[in-house]
Amino acid sequence: MVVGAGFGGLAAARHLAHGPLEVVVVDRTNHHLFQPFLYQVATAILSPGEIVPPIRRIFRRQPNVTVMLAEVTDVDLPRREIQLCGADGARRQLGYDYLIVAAGARDSYFSHGEWARHAVPMKTLAQAVVLRDRILAAYERATEVTNPQQQRRWTTFVIVGGGPTGVELAGQLATLARQLHRDFHRIETERARIVLVEAAKQLLASFAEPLRDHARNKLIGMGVDVRLGSMAVNIDEDGIDVQAHQGATERIRAGTVIWAAGVQASPLGRLLGDASGAEVDRKGRVAVGPDCSLPGYPEVFAIGDMVDQHDLPGMAEPAMQEGAYVAKLIRARISGQPAPGPFHYRDLGTMATISPRDAIADVFGLRLSGLPAQLAWAVVHIAFLIGWGNRVGVLSRWAFDLVTRSRSERVILAGVSGADTR
Ligand SMILES: Cc1cc2nc3c(=O)[nH]c(=O)nc-3n(C[C@H](O)[C@H](O)[C@H](O)COP(=O)(O)OP(=O)(O)OC[C@H]3O[C@@H](n4cnc5c(N)ncnc54)[C@H](O)[C@@H]3O)c2cc1C
Repeated sequence: MVVGAGFGGLAAARHLAHGPLEVVVVDRTNHHLFQPFLYQVATAILSPGEIVPPIRRIFRRQPNVTVMLAEVTDVDLPRREIQLCGADGARRQLGYDYLIVAAGARDSYFSHGEWARHAVPMKTLAQAVVLRDRILAAYERATEVTNPQQQRRWTTFVIVGGGPTGVELAGQLATLARQLHRDFHRIETERARIVLVEAAKQLLASFAEPLRDHARNKLIGMGVDVRLGSMAVNIDEDGIDVQAHQGATERIRAGTVIWAAGVQASPLGRLLGDASGAEVDRKGRVAVGPDCSLPGYPEVFAIGDMVDQHDLPGMAEPAMQEGAYVAKLIRARISGQPAPGPFHYRDLGTMATISPRDAIADVFGLRLSGLPAQLAWAVVHIAFLIGWGNRVGVLSRWAFDLVTRSRSERVILAGVSGADTR
């Protein structure tokens, strides 16, 4: 039984495909979400369908895999059963011999849940589409108002969180602002204000200093107002209050505030921790053993963003490697072969884009920036995207955007009033 068809769950199920096993993949959505491209949906580059291959299609050639659209709500470890709520709303139990839980993480507003109404996160496809609506609708709103301060507010975008997601969004929002200017006659979209707020003293903490500096300088060169050592202390319908390190609080009036700061493991992390006695950290991640299993339950594994495994980063690669490892372990146990040793993460590096022609990459000890890094980023991400149709679709959109310097996915799905419910 594999819970979650994200990066970790998919890797596990794919490595369990074929052979004398029955694999059940349960996910509460019918698609695998390629999260690294969410910001491209939010900034009108890609269409939602291009980054979400249907789970059933992924496993169409694996007859031993059954796909279920259902939400797992509870796990009874001693009885080896999961409880789930199906697409019809009915609850039922399903038994398992081996259980792999890879339910990922969700956004977290720390102790400020009330900010969720005003600061849009970007963890799911639906959130990325809402964000795209908000961004595009903000420019429409700016054309309607005559008061310059109101206009300024609608063309001010604040991103909270200077990790890869925040940096990628800031760079794309700056590019979008420049690209839209030909289509808007009453406002100067290229003068849009993009503010990136980060509590730490640096952006992209996981990268080496020269790469961090490159990203920061590049963003500043693109006109992004980068605020380091600054904390969001209040977010409401009018904007955000930002406090510099032990300094004064500044109000930034903004039509759009984007939340790219905190994540929290799936609630299934705590549930598994409570049921097995495993520790759960403050991000809700459950601690697993060296073979990714839960204490006292060698047949139950947790992997990916919802686990605390030697503090590995919340990235696709650790989740995929854990998924492949656990599948190998289960196969060995079933066939009576010696089990592989403890899980070891092979660090293949990390990358982030800044603009359509600039990125940073730290791969195999090589530090790249600029166009070479952007090309490396594109090759790696296209390779990991599932489905040839999606790969060709994404590549052709990128080519179209590069040539025409415009965006093709500019639909406001909810309409202006629906897009901004404030
Ligand atoms: C905007 C963004 C950009 C990112 N960019 C990068 C990047 O460039 N490079 C990189 O390496 N990483 C990136 N990441 C991180 C990466 O996507 C995650 O680390 C990775 O997805 C973790 O894989 P996972 O299998 O643990 O969880 P996920 O991929 O999140 O999968 C979890 C799955 O579980 C399902 N699920 C959750 N709860 C339940 C339940 N109760 N019942 C049934 N199903 C459930 C979900 O629907 C989902 O399909 C990015 C993340 C985000 C949000």
